[in-house]
Amino acid sequence: MVNEWKEQAEVDPLRAAVFAQSLHTDDPPALRELEREALDAGVPIIRPQTRSLLHFLMEIKKPAAILEIGTAVGYSALYMHAYAGEGCRITTIEIDPDRAAKAAEHFAQADAGEDISLLIGDAAQILPTLEGPYDLILMDAAKGQYVRFLPEILRLLAPGGVIVSDNCLQDGEILESRFAVRRRDRTIHKRMREYLEALFAEPSLVSVLLEAGDGIALSVRR
Ligand code: SAH
Ligand code: MG
Repeated sequence: MVNEWKEQAEVDPLRAAVFAQSLHTDDPPALRELEREALDAGVPIIRPQTRSLLHFLMEIKKPAAILEIGTAVGYSALYMHAYAGEGCRITTIEIDPDRAAKAAEHFAQADAGEDISLLIGDAAQILPTLEGPYDLILMDAAKGQYVRFLPEILRLLAPGGVIVSDNCLQDGEILESRFAVRRRDRTIHKRMREYLEALFAEPSLVSVLLEAGDGIALSVRR
């Protein structure tokens, strides 16, 4: 790769992100209260740019089956549900029983309980029991686990299917050298690097890493 491309770093990424977020207008009104509730409770729901991107992908892909890893209280699942076509099935996995209970409540309130299957437990155990194929997979759980989930994700991904991996830049930490990262974050740092390298090296995928939101990797199966 030619080093001249360094010059492109002229755009201040923070200002760009604020501007991009200000353009994002398509949150379903029914989800505003849930967004407030999640943010107040410190639940890390998908950021506005990730939402725009998901909406965009759903419009292009019109997925019939979606898999999400990391439901939290159900915001992103309901966000996708709001833009999903007739008959689209969403399967979502959450390890924390309290969060899962809240998510189940929110799905019922939104009358989405029929379309969304909530599976409670560790995705590492649940993924091998799933059949797929899924047209869209949102990876949004513990960042250090992504690399562990990858073989199952690849098994479950449909041809032409898309993986959206959230929080790939770990608030910028992934750019730092391993030694600049606090000791307790080093394992996550190492595993996220391994995950990104594996995505880009995987011959059946075409991947791109966007610095939007908290870093989003997009991968499509050839
Ligand atoms: N997708 C949600 C936010 C998810 S936050 C939204 O945007 O609304 C990440 C969630 O992943 C947390 O609730 C956490 O409990 C869950 N999680 C972490 N490790 C997991 C695992 N191994 N299996 C399933 N869920 C996991
Ligand atoms: Mg996230």
